[in-house]
This record gives sequence, structure tokens and C-alpha cells, in this order.
Amino acid sequence: MKCDMCGSEGKLYKTVIEDAQLNVCHECSKFGKVTGIVQQISDKIPQNTINKEPETEVMDIIVEGYAEKIRKRREHLGLKQEEFAKKISEKESLIQKIESGHFEPSIGLAKKIQRFLKIKLIEEHEEKYEKQKAAKTDAFTIGDLIKIKKK
Ligand SMILES: [Zn+2]
Repeated sequence: MKCDMCGSEGKLYKTVIEDAQLNVCHECSKFGKVTGIVQQISDKIPQNTINKEPETEVMDIIVEGYAEKIRKRREHLGLKQEEFAKKISEKESLIQKIESGHFEPSIGLAKKIQRFLKIKLIEEHEEKYEKQKAAKTDAFTIGDLIKIKKK
């Protein structure tokens, strides 16, 4: 929800300004007559519901050592890079890059490769939100830093 006049976000007030009914911020409400407070959706959500929302996000990532996994499996199957590339309708140069670790395949491509080679290339990874990390850093003191360095 943004202020109809200046576009700033925050608490909005139903305000009549020059015969127009607007939802504006506190600053802009001074230009007219406040008739009420605009209920924001976020205000209606109980606090505990917000806390229950996942603080980690599960995402698919390419496994470590994917390059070697692919190369070994391909060699095991007796396929040349060129043949392997043709089988999955990709360029040989792309396979070279992937197997040398210079190019991390997209999830879509990895799925195609793992289906063909019958190996696991994708794993679920839990991404922790930055917010949490920041909160922990705030609690850090110089003393803590020294302790860590000494370990
Ligand atoms: Zn405003």
C-alpha cells in the first residue's frame, strides 16, 4: 500500500483532500481532512502466523562434483562427449564445459542429464534467510571475534 500523493509506504490515512477521497501517508494527510485509517492487509495477520512462515527456503541445487560424476558415468556407459551430447540434444562444447567444471548446468539441463545417465545431480538445499544471519551478527561482540580467531 502506497500513499496516493507521494508514493511512500507505511501507515495510510483515509483523507479528503480538495473533495477527493485519498489514501495518503501521515505527512500528506496534513493537506486534507483525515476520515479514518486504512486497514492494511499485513495488520490483519496475527503475529504468530508470520513467525510460522518458513525461515528457510528449499531450493534445488546442482550437487558438488557434478562435473566428475557426469564424466565418469558417461565414460562408464562407453559414450564419447560428442555421442552423449547428441543423445541429450545438446552441443558437444557444452558437455565439455560442464565436465571440466567450467559451466554449471541449469536445473532443467541437469534433470535431463540425470534422467539419461541415471545419476543424481540435483539435491535440495535449504537457504536460510539473510535476515536471520544479520540478527545473529548483531549479537556479536569483539570478544566473540577474538575467541573465534583463537580456535
Ligand atoms: Zn504521502
